[in-house]
Amino acid sequence: MSSNHNWVCFDCRYSKREPKSTNFIPKCNSCKEDLYCLGYKVAIPKKTDLKNWKKLKEDCFKRSMTVLERETINQVKEKHSLEKEEIKPKFIFKN
Ligand SMILES: [Zn+2]
Repeated sequence: MSSNHNWVCFDCRYSKREPKSTNFIPKCNSCKEDLYCLGYKVAIPKKTDLKNWKKLKEDCFKRSMTVLERETINQVKEKHSLEKEEIKPKFIFKN
């Protein structure tokens, strides 16, 4: 069973239903930008419902920020552990 996902353009408040695929991102009809996949559970506001569109955008932005922050933290952690590896021998010599 292939379920359709909701794809949206926040700027144009355009939405369309397409199955989610890894190699295809639907484009907005108006601005031709990549659409944002909201999944199939999220309700799409009416085109005139500016307030809920704004809320939806903020929610999605927050969600992607959290993912981004987590990724950054992991990268920093990795970097730190690498730096420690490099620094260790020097400290041993100093002490
Ligand atoms: Zn658009």
